[in-house]
Amino acid sequence: MSDGLVFRETLYPGVQVQYSCDDILYQDRSEHQDLVLFANPVFGKVLMLDGVTQVTTADEFIYHEMMAHVPILAHGEAREVLIIGGGDCGMAEEALKHKGIERLTQVEIDDAVVEFSKEHFADFNATVFQDDRFDLVIADGARYVAETDRRFDVVMVDSTDPMGPGAVLFTPEFYRGVHHCLKPGGVLVTQNGVPFLQKGELVSSIGHFSKIYRDAYAYVAAIPTYFGGHMALGWASDNPALRRQPLDVLEQRFEAAGIDTRYYTPEVHQAAFALPRFIRDAVAEG
Ligand code: SAM
Repeated sequence: MSDGLVFRETLYPGVQVQYSCDDILYQDRSEHQDLVLFANPVFGKVLMLDGVTQVTTADEFIYHEMMAHVPILAHGEAREVLIIGGGDCGMAEEALKHKGIERLTQVEIDDAVVEFSKEHFADFNATVFQDDRFDLVIADGARYVAETDRRFDVVMVDSTDPMGPGAVLFTPEFYRGVHHCLKPGGVLVTQNGVPFLQKGELVSSIGHFSKIYRDAYAYVAAIPTYFGGHMALGWASDNPALRRQPLDVLEQRFEAAGIDTRYYTPEVHQAAFALPRFIRDAVAEG
């Protein structure tokens, strides 16, 4: 929602985040959603879809590093990776830093987000479009996982919130579809909102995971853009050992990967699974 040189995020009843806008860089309606990109003095370029903040150039590294490096380094032998959503391609950029990944398939419903991000987010995603391992499919992610014959080591769901085209990515049918296309011992991670404000979303996803996967949990990261405290990232796997990798194993893998990060460290990786009590209770409720 725009009001002169201000944009307001209208995600939560009772509170609103208001950004000052130095410049509107792009504004359009795609087949699926409203897109707006504007410049803010703190967050840099801010992308909103249907009035909800998706990504900013200032803090995208936190979310993308934690969604990509945690499952890939916990797995240790990921070759085939699937991203659902992720139109800004920041997640693909982090994942492709792992040389062991042979193919990274991204299934995004809205080609307008990818095309627009290629132009406006080149500062963090340019390498993706030059990488032969990147395979972009424009389709609904829920449909893709239900129909594909391919199998993946790691699946990352970089979705919008559970509304509009993203709603289907929070359903038990979708999580079952992901389970069906994970290789044995593979891992699913999901963006599950900010529990202080969106507890129901976390409880619901974990409740679905726990009926399908042997291990259903969450980990956290503090991302200024996703206002309200910790963001919860969902974790589901049939291999419970993956989320308890010893620190020395994570350190060896991280060093071998030779990746520069600004938020992720093996210590942060381990600590991210130490949930504050109210979040642990929400996970237990699921
Ligand atoms: N990091 C962001 C967050 O936490 O809010 C998510 C950013 S990313 C831009 C979300 C992407 O999911 C969008 O590009 C949107 O088009 C895509 N998306 C929404 N529903 C989808 C679906 N059913 N299948 C595939 N992609 C979908």
